[in-house]
Amino acid sequence: MTMASAPPFPDQRLVDAHGRAIRYLRISVTDRCDLRCRYCMAEQMTFLPRAKLLSLDEIAIIAERFMARGVTKIRLSGGEPLVRRDVGDLVRRLGRHVGQGLDELTMTTNGTRLAQYADEMVAAGIRRINVSLDSLDADRFRFITRHGDLGQVLGGIAAAKAAGLAIKINMVALAGLNEDEIGTMLQWCVDEGHDLSLIETMPLGAIDEDRVDRFVPLTRVFEALAARFPLARDPHRTGGPARYWRVGESATRLGLISPLTANFCDGCNRVRLTTEGTLYMCLGHEDRVDLKAALRDGGIPGLDAAIDQGLMRKPARHDFTIGAGAAPATTRHMSVTGG
Ligand code: SAM
Ligand code: SF4
Repeated sequence: MTMASAPPFPDQRLVDAHGRAIRYLRISVTDRCDLRCRYCMAEQMTFLPRAKLLSLDEIAIIAERFMARGVTKIRLSGGEPLVRRDVGDLVRRLGRHVGQGLDELTMTTNGTRLAQYADEMVAAGIRRINVSLDSLDADRFRFITRHGDLGQVLGGIAAAKAAGLAIKINMVALAGLNEDEIGTMLQWCVDEGHDLSLIETMPLGAIDEDRVDRFVPLTRVFEALAARFPLARDPHRTGGPARYWRVGESATRLGLISPLTANFCDGCNRVRLTTEGTLYMCLGHEDRVDLKAALRDGGIPGLDAAIDQGLMRKPARHDFTIGAGAAPATTRHMSVTGG
């Protein structure tokens, strides 16, 4: 029996001070990215020096410890996870735990390198991925991402579909940039057999503009979609801030991730590990625990103690607000914590 598949002893289970069981770990495997989406990053970004990053072995050891303590779902994210050169090794190593204590290994990617990696991901045990796609118009896509090539991403999505991966498209709703395209995107997802998650822009890290100018409340979007598509409430829950609807008789599920207009933190089941080895208990708070130091100085017992410490400090909820001139909720970008 592997370490990950051993059922956690009751006193090792991950339950926070608010009684929430932690089952889901998101890992940012790199803070770097080959795109610069305007709502996510500034054009000029300073990334972590490579010497500060966890090694792949350290990421895997920490992930396996979380599995041993009851985590059943892991998502690899970033930054762009597929730009980390050795990410394939990590996917293969964590993939060995799928069905052996780990219910699911997934990834969120911008799709630029999917064509290269799709088969490898399937072979490693990944069954579903999220791909960010904020527009189906090549010029708009290039503007939003600052230099992305829509054809390359659509090619990656097609390769992932052909490889057998189930695909959920992530689309951040942006006033004046893609709000008028959301219905088109949903129809495309229905035609292609993908799910669609719409996301409210969140105040994480400094960017080159004020997010309030681009913020679209999903309540407004939902009204417009419901007028055009038959939407039936779907009970699916992930322990995250999303709520789901089924689109008519299609296979497509529509998710609304609306942390600003609806708060669902009471059911939160996740924590986040950065590429530097920092554990963030909440996407929207600065409080953190240094798991890299804990592991390097104290081995597995040190790691366990640090995880426990963090868990007890997991806040009840985020405090996101979007207002003109308001400072971001955190200085770090979503790409550091892993979206
Ligand atoms: N690079 C990969 C990608 O874009 O899919 C993974 C990392 S990205 C940070 C993960 C998700 O977070 C993407 O769907 C992206 O659109 C979303 N995101 C990034 N910054 C955001 C923000 N400030 N508010 C809301 N969503 C954001
Ligand atoms: Fe890169 Fe993803 Fe952020 Fe876009 S959203 S800049 S693809 S990390």
